[in-house]
Amino acid sequence: MAHVNEHYLKLAGAYLFPEIARRVKACADRRPDVADRIIRCGIGDVPGPIVPAVASAMHDAIDELASIETFRGYPPATGYDFLREAIAEHDFRSRGAPIDDDEIFVSDGSKGDCGHFLEILGPNNIVGLPDPVYPVYVDTNVMAGRTGSALEGGGYEGLRTLPATVENGFVPEPPDEHVDIAYLCFPNNPTGSMIDRPRLEAWVRWANEHDAIILYDAAYADFIRDPSKPRSIFEIPGARTCAVEFRSFSKHGAFTGVRCGYTVVPKELEGRSADREGISLHSLWTRRWTTRANGVSWPVQCGAAALYTPDGRDQTAEVVTRYMDHARLLADGCRSLGWQVHGGEDAPFVWTSSPGGEDSWSLFERILEEAAIVVTPGVGFGRMGEGFIRISAFNTRERIDEVVDRLGNLGG
Ligand SMILES: *Cc1c(COP(=O)(O)O)cnc(C)c1O
Repeated sequence: MAHVNEHYLKLAGAYLFPEIARRVKACADRRPDVADRIIRCGIGDVPGPIVPAVASAMHDAIDELASIETFRGYPPATGYDFLREAIAEHDFRSRGAPIDDDEIFVSDGSKGDCGHFLEILGPNNIVGLPDPVYPVYVDTNVMAGRTGSALEGGGYEGLRTLPATVENGFVPEPPDEHVDIAYLCFPNNPTGSMIDRPRLEAWVRWANEHDAIILYDAAYADFIRDPSKPRSIFEIPGARTCAVEFRSFSKHGAFTGVRCGYTVVPKELEGRSADREGISLHSLWTRRWTTRANGVSWPVQCGAAALYTPDGRDQTAEVVTRYMDHARLLADGCRSLGWQVHGGEDAPFVWTSSPGGEDSWSLFERILEEAAIVVTPGVGFGRMGEGFIRISAFNTRERIDEVVDRLGNLGG
């Protein structure tokens, strides 16, 4: 019998979303009055639809594939030049971030990239992860054999924790102990926090001084409202020698089902070989793509490029504004209950706790029973998320209004 990858067996069971589903079902079975009116503010998907500029570009692209004159076969493994150029120009160079077209690697989404990137990094790196955290970073490290066993109460042996707390505004500080790879996510999922320029500068300085790499997840960059906040880590001088950035069209572009994102790897960024030689991660990542994949489909890349056209930008900006209005309504609603509210200003998530000091699951149950609203318990994102819940702004305006209304009728 073939042997399995033992590292997969260390994974603590996928707990959070199945447990939410189990509790929602139990409540619905018991309370038909709740079952009929449940509103889900938990999952990170968007209501859509893709904007007209994208739909039209994808239709045209499919017609091209259907004609022998304009048919296209395999795309370049790391993305068509027209899309890489649009990305590098609009998301980076126009904002003062010096990124070349060939430093953009187009992919089928950044969740995959976050995990795949570990393939070009050695197994003995010390990895620092925020708590609370997007669980993908943790589980992909476990699968890649970068941890020991699961710890009771959450986490894994061998990983270092970068605490995100009320005190630090849910922005972790660079660690005192040695870390080779640090994950950061801003705007943050799940806490909705956003890092400011001085604190991101401090991280870049720390990484360069300690020869560490920052894996920077900016999937929600387009939701930043405050013009003084950095949209990309590459707006910070020095980031080209210490950072990789993951970006996604999923949320602002409603691409969760279309599937497209990209990773930025600067040519100066190096890792170290066993004989202490500097090795270009850009060339290893290029090699990884050309060997393992044949790129992203023509209609999808045409759709993604349409996000950067004047129409695409206007239409997308409108969608983002709508979500951020939702976030504000949700935050105001929670505040009027006397709850402590975080996030929701530069990110489409509100992160909140009740003054009663209820634990995450109690608050989850109470909101479900009394208001028929499904939120996400903060403790599901790490032990430091205990006491909090995450409410997502990805919903229709009607549902958001209803959610705010129902929250207003909650006791305390
Ligand atoms: C949604 C999300 C992504 C994007 O994932 P895709 O695979 O591009 O859909 C990445 N990081 C975080 C934190 C997210 O919430």
